Amino acid sequence: MNIQILKNFIDGEWQDSSTNRYLDDMNPATGQIIAKIPKSTSEDANSAIAAAKAAFKNWSSTPLYERAGICFEISQKIQKNLQEFAELESRDTGKPITLCLNLDIPRAVSNFQFFSEFVKSSSAKFFEMPNVNSRIFRYPVGVATLITPWNLPLYLLSWKLAPALIMGNTVVAKPSELTPLTANRLAELFEEVGAPKGIFNLVHGLGNEVGETLVSHADVNLVSFTGGTTTGRRVAELAAPTFKKLSLEMGGKNPTLVFADCDFEKTVVGVARSSFLNQGQICLCGSRILVEEKIFDKFVEALKVEVGEWKLGDPSDKNTKLGSLISTFHREKIEKYVQVAIDDGGTLITGGKRPQGHDLGAFFEPTIFTGVPVTSRAVTEEIFGPVVTVHPFKKEEEAIYISNSIKYGLSATIWTTDSKKAQRVAERIDAGTVWVNTWLMRDLRVPFGGMKDSGLGREGGEYSLDFFSETKTICTLTEPS
Ligand code: NAD
Repeated sequence: MNIQILKNFIDGEWQDSSTNRYLDDMNPATGQIIAKIPKSTSEDANSAIAAAKAAFKNWSSTPLYERAGICFEISQKIQKNLQEFAELESRDTGKPITLCLNLDIPRAVSNFQFFSEFVKSSSAKFFEMPNVNSRIFRYPVGVATLITPWNLPLYLLSWKLAPALIMGNTVVAKPSELTPLTANRLAELFEEVGAPKGIFNLVHGLGNEVGETLVSHADVNLVSFTGGTTTGRRVAELAAPTFKKLSLEMGGKNPTLVFADCDFEKTVVGVARSSFLNQGQICLCGSRILVEEKIFDKFVEALKVEVGEWKLGDPSDKNTKLGSLISTFHREKIEKYVQVAIDDGGTLITGGKRPQGHDLGAFFEPTIFTGVPVTSRAVTEEIFGPVVTVHPFKKEEEAIYISNSIKYGLSATIWTTDSKKAQRVAERIDAGTVWVNTWLMRDLRVPFGGMKDSGLGREGGEYSLDFFSETKTICTLTEPS
């Protein structure tokens, strides 16, 4: 297979890194190098920021409808090239092609499409007092840095990029160095639709080199970051001295609460999905499963059987449900947590090892533990892989206590047929999103983000329009005082 040599996309031109050095981009399912990406430096980051800054004047004064129109065109282009985008994403991440075809890429299409339409129905706010009115307007912020992780590469980039551009900002994006391919293809689409040069710049490379410059540079006015909590903390430190607008979407260790009165069969299927989709590498996956004692043994057995039916293997096979992890390095991290669970007294119900016959890729079996103390690091820290721990609880109060006992607060899922109980429990859980009898369902109008160490700020619908803009109030005296 040909190895693709990528370039940075700066000011509408494809440019090599100033050092001419490259990083290998690997297909984690085969161990093969599929592309080389520029190992960019601060110099490259500075060029991209300068291009975005130069493009800002024209872009920010381009009518909103025109900006939205370009994003709509991009959505149509991705849709037209869905198969190609899905194949790129699958090869870059090791995730099953069916997941890319049904989730990753369609959601990227929706992100561009949704924001280009939603913005038109959003109007300036107006407040009245006797003899005074206040009108609130949104203005573009400036240059926006967008930093994204490897687990949902195009999906998360499009989630930020569409509202950032539509609100009149210009962008420098840095995708994860592990998954550069769909961002690269997206930049080609901006070229194809004839988008103004410099509104969307793409710089590849490592976080601690190019990423830090993109966050700290004085000409960057806004940073939207999605990634791990430790990195997010560093990003916050770097952004603070220049008071940039900042949004942080970070790690999670989400609880799944299963009550005895749940619809058992649907719940088992739903929990298997929320535990192991994308090999458990979704920030919203539920990895602490709390099950009411009365159905504990029956539930654990059923979950094991359900997961046993998931086909693991070649991501390009349309029947595959479990692909490869992102890297062998990440697999080693997961294996360390499996050992922690065992050392802390856990009972391995299934998995816990590399599958036979898949030696070239970073595969790992879906893993279920019981008996791990809820204070174990395997239960309180983010593993970000196909490993879940299942814990019994007697009373709703106990389930809420365990749910809230860690530093994360991204999402939670409740399975019950008692809607009053669902509401009561949902209100008390520390999480930005609580799903009831479903998971990963997204209405793009609603806020998305985390509490505690999972995030800062919210994006989605009006929240994205607000974040990617500066609001200004014009307060006018309507009658002489
Ligand atoms: P990561 O934090 O290692 O990297 C994320 C991005 O930040 C990458 O592009 C990376 O190159 C860049 N980066 C790394 N160091 C940097 C630095 N010092 N300055 C600037 N940028 C830097 O995360 P990851 O391993 O790519 O992704 C997995 C993590 O992302 C998990 O913790 C997961 O929970 C989280 N995540 C959160 C959400 C959410 O919406 N809350 C969504 C997806 C993933």
